[in-house]
Amino acid sequence: MSRSRSLLDRPVQYLRLAGPRRAELFEKLDVKSGRDLLYHVPRRYWDATNVDQIADLATGTDATIIGRVQSTAVFPTRRRLKIFRALVEDSSGGVECAWPGQPFMERVIKKGDLVLLSGSVRFFHGRQLQPREHVVLERADKPGVAPVGTPEGIVFPVYPATQGLSHREIRMVTRANLAGLLTEIDERDPVPPKWLKRLGLPSLGPAFRALHAPRSLEHAEKGRLRLAFDEFLCLQLVHARARRAQVENTRAISFTSEPELTERFLHSLPFTLTGAQTKVWREIREDLARSVPMNRLLQGDVGCGKTVVAALAMLRAAESGHQAAVLAPTAVLAEQHRATLEQLTEPLGDRDLRPVLLTGSVTGQHRKYAQNRMESGQAKLIVGTHALLEDTVRYRSLGLVVIDEQHRFGVRQRAKLRKRNPAPHALIMSATPIPRSLAMLVFGDLDASVIDERPPARQTVTTAVRGPDQRVDVLDFVQSELDAGGRAYIVYPLIEESEVLDVRAAKAGFEEMKKRFPGASPVLMHGALPSAEKDRAMRRFQSGESRLLVSTTVIEVGIDVPEATVMVIEDAERFGLAQLHQLRGRVGRGSDKSWCIALHAGRSPSERLGIFAATYDGFELAEQDLKLRGQGDLWGTAQHGGQLLRFARLSTDGRLLRAARRLARNAVAKDPTLSSPEMRPLLTELKTRYAEQEALFGVG
Ligand code: ADP
Ligand code: MG
Repeated sequence: MSRSRSLLDRPVQYLRLAGPRRAELFEKLDVKSGRDLLYHVPRRYWDATNVDQIADLATGTDATIIGRVQSTAVFPTRRRLKIFRALVEDSSGGVECAWPGQPFMERVIKKGDLVLLSGSVRFFHGRQLQPREHVVLERADKPGVAPVGTPEGIVFPVYPATQGLSHREIRMVTRANLAGLLTEIDERDPVPPKWLKRLGLPSLGPAFRALHAPRSLEHAEKGRLRLAFDEFLCLQLVHARARRAQVENTRAISFTSEPELTERFLHSLPFTLTGAQTKVWREIREDLARSVPMNRLLQGDVGCGKTVVAALAMLRAAESGHQAAVLAPTAVLAEQHRATLEQLTEPLGDRDLRPVLLTGSVTGQHRKYAQNRMESGQAKLIVGTHALLEDTVRYRSLGLVVIDEQHRFGVRQRAKLRKRNPAPHALIMSATPIPRSLAMLVFGDLDASVIDERPPARQTVTTAVRGPDQRVDVLDFVQSELDAGGRAYIVYPLIEESEVLDVRAAKAGFEEMKKRFPGASPVLMHGALPSAEKDRAMRRFQSGESRLLVSTTVIEVGIDVPEATVMVIEDAERFGLAQLHQLRGRVGRGSDKSWCIALHAGRSPSERLGIFAATYDGFELAEQDLKLRGQGDLWGTAQHGGQLLRFARLSTDGRLLRAARRLARNAVAKDPTLSSPEMRPLLTELKTRYAEQEALFGVG
């Protein structure tokens, strides 16, 4: 029967003090086995370490006491509410404790018990303690029952509970089974002891003891850190193995020809590269010269000049006789990339460098033409959406893919690239700066390049946050900028995950702005417009025929109109910090002073808008965002599983993450298959941990 199984695998029902009724309720908490019980960790802790003397209790404060129950009684009140009362005494004195509405406490706390109580001290015919927490330390009828707490402190775990199963019952069941579970789990610790020693982390048994029965809050935190480390380590091992697989099984084309096009391109630019651009370009060029595929993340703040660097990489492919493609998340952005790339390469005067566009909206003859040129190799630079990676799309020789990431991780796209032979080099461009820790976590298999310097003479953007009563002034200000020859954006938020509603706000805004600024010939732009119309609107704004662009967030990324000096964001509290920063990056791209004005609809600005106005550096903003929102949202759509991190906190555990990565990379370098006796337990751990993400991680 199940009893013979290990405690870890034993169904909850057969654990001590659990039973079938509780087991059913435990199942609602996803706790089905001993192992699950161990992993069902406290939500918070009740720290009862500092016990007050009863004689010192002051009304209006919170207090914790330990005392002996002298007498108990249940009293009715006028409103038919029943109150349980107990007189509790310690060596300093006595106090009445009351549990209004909880007559059943009579069965829990008995005369003669030693109890630990925490709650608020009220005044009611004298001092009265109303406990929120209670623990019976010793039963009058069973003297010597295991005392709780330790000489260092008394900390109680408070567990996530469910209707019918209180956190106290969970505490009781967990405690009753803890010792056995801990011995078993410690025997199976997959992490080599020498690593733990180096990092000062406990092994698995003690870590769980710290979480379930801590001596102090610091002790509990040690336990959390150990489990956070496991999460980091496992993800980094997956990344390290992916890196290794790329090197081992995949060949890429090495670009080694003389730098002819790239040199001409650099000379054709109206500026010289910044130091940071030069450094990053060198890193990329070196990668491209190798016969293993590049896998590089290119990060940089908005406007730091990532595009030029990506264009250089693409031209490097072209001058070596191969093709390069840009993968954009949407058709609008693909068109943007095409236009930018065309503009950048035009001075080179080579017809074959005209970028070819392939998106869902390119059809019929145009599509055929584009495909023919891609297949023959005449088209050197290609821009499109994810469709570019479909098997039906043929290339002569695809040497490089630039993936423009818009809050998406591109894991699938990268996996697809890896299947090609030879595999194209991959440059992943992150549209917004993301915190270092997050980058390491989700892009851990990539090498990273950061452009950490802005082009000189670029204007910083003055940011203002304004409320509804200042909207008139803001529009007057827009008018004055337009009068001075500037151009402006007015952006409306995505109100719901509905294109229709989204468009409605922008359309209404457009009608208003047409009346308000007739001289500026406003144009409207949103995702639902046919692409020909989008093109037309964009072109009119770019040429200056129109000087006011009313838009939804489709303009968030990539649009580059140096003459634009004002960005007005309506309903700004609906935007996330990253989005706001992206929008702000659309202005200040020329030589004129620029403004970003966030209009909030509510009475007072949110904390987020305050941070936005005070912070111009994108990386710093990203860190703030992480602190503000926690990490829940960072995973974007649920598809990549927010469950990957239960214990780790990216905003504070960065050091641990870096240590985990170092260890993982070294381990995989020494033992790529993780099959040595020392590493095999970790391999097993990876397989159980990511069983459900198999497709994503390819753990095998
Ligand atoms: P990002 O993509 O990083 O937001 P872009 O590549 O779009 O930034 O560059 C923003 C603007 O700065 C573009 O107009 C670009 O031509 C210009 N730019 C890029 N590099 C430099 C440089 N080194 N000096 C001056 N201007 C530059
Ligand atoms: Mg750009």
